[in-house]
Formats: sequence, structure tokens, C-alpha cells
Amino acid sequence: MPVNQRNLRDSFTKQRSPAWPCPTCKAGHLRIDKDSISAKATAESVAAQDHPAWDPDWTTLRFVALAVCDNTDCLEVATIKGRGGLQPIGQSYDYQEFYTPEYFDPSPALIIVPEQCKSEVRSELKMAFAHAWGDPTSSSAHIRTATERLLDQLRIQKSVTAKGKRQRLTLHRRIELLSVKNPEASELLLAVKWIGNAGVHSGALTQQEVIDALDLLEGALSSLFDPHANRVKVLAKRINKRRGP
Ligand SMILES: [Zn+2]
Repeated sequence: MPVNQRNLRDSFTKQRSPAWPCPTCKAGHLRIDKDSISAKATAESVAAQDHPAWDPDWTTLRFVALAVCDNTDCLEVATIKGRGGLQPIGQSYDYQEFYTPEYFDPSPALIIVPEQCKSEVRSELKMAFAHAWGDPTSSSAHIRTATERLLDQLRIQKSVTAKGKRQRLTLHRRIELLSVKNPEASELLLAVKWIGNAGVHSGALTQQEVIDALDLLEGALSSLFDPHANRVKVLAKRINKRRGP
């Protein structure tokens, strides 16, 4: 299931807000508690109101809000913060506020995380999801740590001893070592690592790059833990070898 990009980028209003899948119960949906929305115009956009050509849609808002799970057995609550503005209502001269989330905690799961993933991997992914809404560089840092924790879970060695000295292995080397067990997951994780490296060097990653990294990571997780994906691969290999069922 690739990352739902519309969910990540869409704005909402008090009249029209999406229902985000609840990450806690996985049965209900997080819905905006309209009374919790609190928004104010930024200092810069208040100052701009003195401009002769000022228009309401020049306004930039900062907002916070709560979203609550509609499953009465769950009632999870999430905090959302971000930016917004004013937009005309239909063809009228009236305006309404709109809000674009930049942080969402706990965030709806952006990719499928298999049950077998240990809590150390899960907690990093949770942070990666929360930041993916508006802070790609920080999301990418959590994706990188999640990758390290995943390699720990897979018992990929962390260091080597050369000439009596212990040396830490780089993330790159550890991912290469995984190729002995699972070349497909190793290749996918290397691509995740390159995206993260680009972010460290340029200092800025785009949300699209983070979405790509998450999609690649999901592929690696599925290759490592999804029994069905693995079963059909083994099955195909056997059938092709026999040239029959
Ligand atoms: Zn829930």
C-alpha cells in the first residue's frame, strides 16, 4: 500500500475534514474535534493588512487542533498543528479558514508496518510519520534510525574487530551485509539510505523524497516479514525450475 499522498497534503476546513485511519485501534477513524481548532494570523500577515491592495487570502494562519477516534472502545486523541489561510466560500465574497497539518501525533500509519517489527523499529517509524506532514528532514532522520533498529532486529552485526580494535560498521555496510540473507530488502534499504544521505548533505529534503523513502522501506519490510509475499516467490521459483506445477 503506497503512501496516501492526498491525505498528507490535503487541507481541511471546519465544514469539510477527512477521517484519518486510527493508528491505535486500526478500526476507527480520527476526526477533527471542531471546537478544539484554535487559529491566529501570523505577525507578518497582520502587518500586511495595512497594504492598500490587501486581500483576505493573503492571510497566513497558525493553528492547533485535536482529532479523536470515533471508535467508542478506543477514543484515541491526536494533536495536529500546522498552517492555514483564508479561502473564498464557493463564488461568494465570504471567506472561511482552511488548515494544512504540518505535524500529526500519533499520525495515521503512512505505510504498513508488519506485526513482527520490534517496538524499537515501530517507535522510530511513529516519529517518522508524525514529522512527514511538514518536516521532511526530521522525518528522514527517524527513517534512518528505524533502518538501523531494523538491522539490529535482524541481527546484522554492528561492528568488526580489526587489529585488536573494535570498529563500528557504517549503515551502508550493514545494509550490504543483509544482502546475504535477503538481497531484495538490502537493495530497497540502500535506496532509502541514499535518499536520507542526500537530505543530510543538502540540508533539505522534499516531502516527495520522504514519501519515496517510506514506499521503499515498506517494500523492504514486506520482503522481510510478509509470509505471503515470500511464499509466492518460493512457489514461482519451484514452478519455474520444474517447468510445471
Ligand atoms: Zn482508534
